[in-house]
Amino acid sequence: MGEKVNEKDEKPRDREGIPLKCKNCGYKWIYKGNSKFYASCPRCNYKVNIEKRKISWKELEEEDTDA
Ligand SMILES: [Zn+2]
Repeated sequence: MGEKVNEKDEKPRDREGIPLKCKNCGYKWIYKGNSKFYASCPRCNYKVNIEKRKISWKELEEEDTDA
């Protein structure tokens, strides 16, 4: 029966985690840890408040040009 697997589905399903932006260094990444409150920035180790610093997937993909 259904042998065909649609691999080119336009909707990616692997959007797990929470996109965050570090307030300290501006780094953006996807947090996949268990904490609901704080994540450590992979770049500078700053403690990022997840509720306050979470961003949209769209923002995550945007180039960030603040100097
Ligand atoms: Zn940082």
